[in-house]
Amino acid sequence: MAGIVAIGGGQASFSFIQKLKALGYSGDITLICGEKAIPYQRPPLSKKFLLGDMTKEQLFFRPESYYRDNKINLMIGKQVVKVNTNRKSIELEDGFNLPYDKLFFGTGASPRKFSDKMVNKTKSIYYIRSIKDIESVSKHFVSNRSLIIIGGGYIGLEVAAVASKLGLKVTIFEVQERILKRVASNKVADYFRDLHTKNGINIKENVSVERFVFEGNYLKAVFTDKGESISTDFVVAGIGIEPNVYLAKNAGLLVQNGILVDSSCRTSDPNIFAAGDCANFPYKGQRIRLESVGNAIEQSEVAAKTILGKASIYEALPWFWSDQFNTKLQIAGLNFGYTDVVERINGDKISFWYFKEGNLLSVDAINDPISFMVGKKLIEMKKAIDPRDLKSENFNLKGLLKG
Ligand SMILES: Cc1cc2nc3c(=O)[nH]c(=O)nc-3n(C[C@H](O)[C@H](O)[C@H](O)COP(=O)(O)OP(=O)(O)OC[C@H]3O[C@@H](n4cnc5c(N)ncnc54)[C@H](O)[C@@H]3O)c2cc1C
Repeated sequence: MAGIVAIGGGQASFSFIQKLKALGYSGDITLICGEKAIPYQRPPLSKKFLLGDMTKEQLFFRPESYYRDNKINLMIGKQVVKVNTNRKSIELEDGFNLPYDKLFFGTGASPRKFSDKMVNKTKSIYYIRSIKDIESVSKHFVSNRSLIIIGGGYIGLEVAAVASKLGLKVTIFEVQERILKRVASNKVADYFRDLHTKNGINIKENVSVERFVFEGNYLKAVFTDKGESISTDFVVAGIGIEPNVYLAKNAGLLVQNGILVDSSCRTSDPNIFAAGDCANFPYKGQRIRLESVGNAIEQSEVAAKTILGKASIYEALPWFWSDQFNTKLQIAGLNFGYTDVVERINGDKISFWYFKEGNLLSVDAINDPISFMVGKKLIEMKKAIDPRDLKSENFNLKGLLKG
């Protein structure tokens, strides 16, 4: 019996094998991680781990003994280089072949990078995706050093907040007209721009990097399309990620901005499944790929159920969070195509409720876990609410969940 093989040691593969176990699967399971670390969570990398408030061991989902105790064959530091769908086997870098009955892709994504020509092999431009990335950049997080962050998305802003707490001089460059353009509304962007500016961070929007300025192999400055040259000790780039699909593509699976899966996580090969950052799935009549922990967990659980013959459909209700300074942003739903937004202020708690033709699409809650929780449930229940109620500070939100 060849059993089930999962490629990748991130949230998706970990949740997948955990669900297989929870559902009573007792056949062979192999989990192959390209990184030299047992499966771990990424969100703290740009938060507490970078700040030094969390150890490497605390990042691990489970200690190594969990895999032994549950008879999971864990292979770390091994890259899968080929999948042979006819023979139903995979090949590792060292030539080792492993057969499978069912194969799961949890290959995740990798940071989008500047071209080698542009960065001139400098060691002063960093990306944030793995423990290794943090271990190599954290030595620069020293008070009074200067840091330019390229990209005003969540990772860029979280890294900026940590750097500022540690006393660095931080400038953020965002190529779009505003930060968080791809992932949040104007109102949320305004809130976070304000928060960062108050903490001394210099945010430059509508600015792109034309080139890096070097002295030998050392980075000296960043030259922008506005003709400005800003000196810096190092650069962190958070300019998006690309799904890891080369393996799937070479195996002949259908790929388009991620590995194409149906709503039960099946790829174009009946024995292969995918979930998490690498998977592109149907959502409300279109196809999307999400980059969040919630998606990786819930989608992988659907894959596990499907493989074990339990009919299961992934109906994504996206949720996400971000921590910057002492502020927690929690997002439920996607605000694609919203027509109205209602702002609810309750003391220092703020939430934005997005509607499309009267239907609640999503909620962005800032330091406001109740609005997040209620909003998420209302979206799940598809319950109609009167937006005017939200504006009253005394209105009992939880009451909306009754009846
Ligand atoms: C710094 C950071 C902060 C984040 N913060 C948040 C947050 O606050 N909230 C939130 O919801 N989400 C957050 N995310 C996103 C979230 O972590 C991801 O959506 C999630 O990790 C996706 O899990 P995954 O298993 O699909 O992919 P990944 O975590 O990318 O794991 C994929 C794994 O597969 C391995 N792999 C790839 N190809 C091969 C191969 N051929 N052979 C062997 N192994 C292979 C990779 O090395 C990697 O270890 C954050 C991400 C980062 C990087």
